[in-house]
Amino acid sequence: MQMDSIKNGIRSSVAFASLLVLVGCQTAPITGRNQFIIVSESQAVQLGADAYKQIRTETPISRDPTMNQAVQDAGRRIAAVAHDPGYDWEFTVFEDADPNAFALPGGKVGVNTGLFQVAKNEAQLAAVMAHEVAHAIARHSAERMSQQIAIQGGLAAAGAASATAAQYSGILAQAATLAVVLPFGRNQESEADEIGLMYMAEAGYDPRAAVELWQNFASFGGDRPPEFLSTHPSPGTRIDRLNALMPRALEIYRANQQ
Ligand SMILES: [Zn+2]
Repeated sequence: MQMDSIKNGIRSSVAFASLLVLVGCQTAPITGRNQFIIVSESQAVQLGADAYKQIRTETPISRDPTMNQAVQDAGRRIAAVAHDPGYDWEFTVFEDADPNAFALPGGKVGVNTGLFQVAKNEAQLAAVMAHEVAHAIARHSAERMSQQIAIQGGLAAAGAASATAAQYSGILAQAATLAVVLPFGRNQESEADEIGLMYMAEAGYDPRAAVELWQNFASFGGDRPPEFLSTHPSPGTRIDRLNALMPRALEIYRANQQ
């Protein structure tokens, strides 16, 4: 019995290792960064849809027609120029005073009503939507899930040789499910800024509005920074990076002005 479990464990590790080789190499759009992704697109999209459904059940949804229209318009206009693999895009405005937004796998995007205190015009809102669309297109959640699976899988394979194959896949599935709502890493945030800047320019929004947006975030109130800031690089850092990318973005903008 013990031997069988060990063999199962080894077999899972071998299967897991070959899985890494098979699907471990992908490239992000625009930046061309190599990514470690071992969850399938369909798994990630399913987890994203489930999490979105749950958030929509638990958080009040705004019926403000102006905010909803603005978010739908900007979201769809950005998604139309993105490297969209055919996602079923959904954009929801949530009643929440925190100036924040989020993206889940498969093109599920949420924007809080509080964001409108910081995104003060159409182009600034488009900068947020482009950033979130970029997270989804660059599969940042799947990348996050893959890191968690690799960590948990490594621990399970090294520590618990007695884990059965079923227990082993259970551990991995749980790691992926939890990771779907983990904050993104800083390199992913910078990448979403870069991809988002090019997407907004291509959609015909002035990319300089992205810099204005982060200036607004920087001066936005009080001692407690909004959540959007605490999980993201500092506004000064991202403004510097955005300005460095601006000549390329402006070229794209001028070529696509409507
Ligand atoms: Zn972000």
